[in-house]
Amino acid sequence: MKIVILDGYAVNPGDISWAALEEYGEIVLYDNTPADQVVQRIGDAEIVFTNKTPLTKETFDACPSVRYVGVLATGYNVVDVASAVDKGIVVTNIPSYGTAAVAQLVFALLLEICHHAGAHSQAVFEGRWTRSKEFCFWDYPLIELAGKTFGIIGYGRIGRQTAKLAEALDMKILAYDQSPDKSLETENVKLVTLEEVLAQSDVISLHCPLLPDTKGMINKDSIAKMKDGVILLNTSRGPLIVEQDLVDALDSGKIFAAGLDVVSQEPIKADNPLLGARNCIITPHIAWAPTEARRRLVALAVENLAAFISGSPVNVVRE
Ligand code: NAD
Repeated sequence: MKIVILDGYAVNPGDISWAALEEYGEIVLYDNTPADQVVQRIGDAEIVFTNKTPLTKETFDACPSVRYVGVLATGYNVVDVASAVDKGIVVTNIPSYGTAAVAQLVFALLLEICHHAGAHSQAVFEGRWTRSKEFCFWDYPLIELAGKTFGIIGYGRIGRQTAKLAEALDMKILAYDQSPDKSLETENVKLVTLEEVLAQSDVISLHCPLLPDTKGMINKDSIAKMKDGVILLNTSRGPLIVEQDLVDALDSGKIFAAGLDVVSQEPIKADNPLLGARNCIITPHIAWAPTEARRRLVALAVENLAAFISGSPVNVVRE
């Protein structure tokens, strides 16, 4: 059986072994695959793994041998799942490998906004503290989170993990999910409407998937419903936000700061307006990437394939 990995480099730049997959067939591994080479590289393979390489209806039409697509990620919006399902192709994702890592980066972004540890350390190494007349100095407003409200949009695995971390900082948590499970409510965590999350949160963190109804959900209208001076965090998918509307809100101060791990087009374009926005920090889609999480991802990719081959696929996505 031929197994093609279209873009293995980001998941495994060489520090993890793919050997466990070899048990299931002959592996053809590509670091990256440009869109115009996807069909030719898949060829007559039955098994395809993709991380961020799009797989479209046209690809499935042109590659009739494909029986299984393993997405090497949680978000599977790169695959036209409906077309795959139409052709009887099983598509799986990896739901939980990065839950702890992504939630951790949410707080790396938030705490950076609250303390600017990196910039203050740099100022110290540049001699500012040595020259200071006071025993301390700070260049940005410093923010305490205790008692503030942490709003979560999408109360799934990662959303719930961020709630735990916010709770540890003595924040109150308001969460919105389109399929709310009220049994998850606690003294500090309330499941509420989207309007309530927007209106009452001091910090809003996005954790819903990118779907047609979530695309652009953070726009000038939803931003207008937020508190003045809110902090916005996005570690989910860039297109959830209308970026020019976010830039306008940052520049006007309506949104105090944004911490983003994802943007509309990745790698970020040189003319992305966020690069010129006030009080915006951006990391290059690294939330998922600690070594521990990537090791789990590769192990779970192998388990997903094994389950498919055994006839009882797991982690199947259908829409
Ligand atoms: P999950 O499926 O466990 O949770 C998603 C939640 O969003 C679900 O509870 C679902 O009901 C809810 N939801 C769906 N549509 C909604 C809507 N319209 N409004 C509100 N809620 C809605 O997924 P997860 O593991 O928590 O991951 C969430 C997202 O995080 C993924 O879809 C992916 O895009 C992103 N992600 C990013 C990284 C990264 O490196 N930055 C890594 C992993 C995942």
